[in-house]
Formats: sequence, structure tokens, C-alpha cells
Amino acid sequence: MRLFEAIIAANHRAIAGDTTAGLKPFEFAANLPIVALSCIDVRLGPLLPEVLGVPESDFIWLRNAGNIITGPLSSTMRSMALACAIKGGKEIAIIGHTDCQVGKTGALELLERFRALGVERHRLPDNLPEFFGTFSSDRQNVIHAADIARNSPLISPRIPVHGLMVDIVTGKLEWLVNGYETAPSVASKWNEVIHSAGQTVDALKSLADFQIGEMKFPETKIGEHIMGAGEWMAEKLHAAQIPTAAQPAAPPKPPHPEPPHLTAAPKTGLPPQLRARFKVRLK
Ligand SMILES: [Zn+2]
Repeated sequence: MRLFEAIIAANHRAIAGDTTAGLKPFEFAANLPIVALSCIDVRLGPLLPEVLGVPESDFIWLRNAGNIITGPLSSTMRSMALACAIKGGKEIAIIGHTDCQVGKTGALELLERFRALGVERHRLPDNLPEFFGTFSSDRQNVIHAADIARNSPLISPRIPVHGLMVDIVTGKLEWLVNGYETAPSVASKWNEVIHSAGQTVDALKSLADFQIGEMKFPETKIGEHIMGAGEWMAEKLHAAQIPTAAQPAAPPKPPHPEPPHLTAAPKTGLPPQLRARFKVRLK
């Protein structure tokens, strides 16, 4: 039995009245700690660790309003990635809850709430639901977030990404997305970033900030960045011998020794203008 199978089984036994039901964390030491994303709803504070049965020391808890993930490279995704890379998180769970006010608060009501706080309409983005990532279905929100996390380039394919709902009254868990069954679509990781026109610039700026490995993106021609990043990732995938949908039968290439040259600078050295300036010195 795997970790979340045991968590769900113990939770359902406890809900059914079995007072002996509980997770035995020592049996799952290799699968702990877990990384959980939940809503900020204060009712979850005492409830969530209890219903999961995971000890506090093995529970890396990220929270935001509505357990929303806005994109594969978003701030929340970066924290999740670091929770795995730095703090050793072994499995990820996006955990929604019933009676979530983030889902229940419509755009007009949200505007009213902001106005009551002195935040006028003109200070807010046009499309509030899109900006805040608010949702109308708690369950769809969890499924969507799990899908984004699963296909984020920042998350290892080895990390299962689960989606759960918790009943805020009874504490019963519902397993919406079984992370042991959802294989990551490796090719989609970068396609999602590269082909999403609206997100590309932000995504690449995010990458520039994040500096994956030694790679840095200079602030010049965006088109070159897109191709450079895509080709670079394709080579990385080949080097790791991970098949992609786009190139299923291609033989693996040798590892690329260094990040791509993303500007028009000649590979042999300095850009032309600098080469001219240092011409004498170079000779
Ligand atoms: Zn909530």
C-alpha cells in the first residue's frame, strides 16, 4: 500500500468510527515529508494535519487563498519546487476544501469587499476572476491545480502530484487526482510555456529571475529566448533519455555541455562592438 492509499484508507476508517484507525508514518519514511498546498481558511489549521495523520515534522504546508496555482512557473510552483529540492518533499498534494469562500465570492461581491476596504475599482485589474484565479467549482479548481503542478517543468516526474478535497465539517478526504496514476506529460511542460502567448513573456521573465542552473536570460529579443529555451530543454530531455511526444523515436543526443547562446553574439567570443573596442588588446 502506498502513502496516500494508506492516508485515504485510515481517514475513511476513522470517519466510519474505527477509533484505532491511523497512519503509521514509520512505514512510509521513504515517502515523507509530503508537500501540501491548501487554502488559507483558518478552519483548516487544526483540521488538516489531523485528517491526514501525517506528523507535523513531515508536513510541509503551503497555503494561499483558494489553494490556487496560477501557472507552471508561478510563485506557488516555485515554493513547491524548492520544498521538494531543498526540504526533501517526496509527494505533493493539492488539498481543496468544502465551503471555500474564495470559490463562493463572485466578482461583484469581491469588488464590494475591496471598496469597503478603500480599494477602488480603478486600482484593480479589469478581469478580477482571472487575476486572482477565483473559481466556481472547488473540485475543478483542485483538478486544475494538480494538472498544472504535474506538468510544471519545475517538478520532477518522480514526485507524485495528488489532488484531494477535505470536508470542512466531517474531515473526510476525497481523492480526486491519484498522483500515482497521472504520468507527467514531459513534452507538454515546455509546450505549455512556449505556446501560451499571453504567458510567454512573464514565464521567461520568471525564468530569468529563477536562473535554472547556470542559465540566465538577458533582457533582449524575446523571440530568441523562446527558441533558445525550447531547444535547450529539448536537449536536456534527450540527455536524460526522456522520450517526448514530439520526438518519440529520436536517438538520445550527448548532453549539452553548456546553456544555449541566447543573444546574437558570436559563439567565439565578444559581440562585434566589444570585439572592435578590444581589438588591439586581443591581438
Ligand atoms: Zn478556502
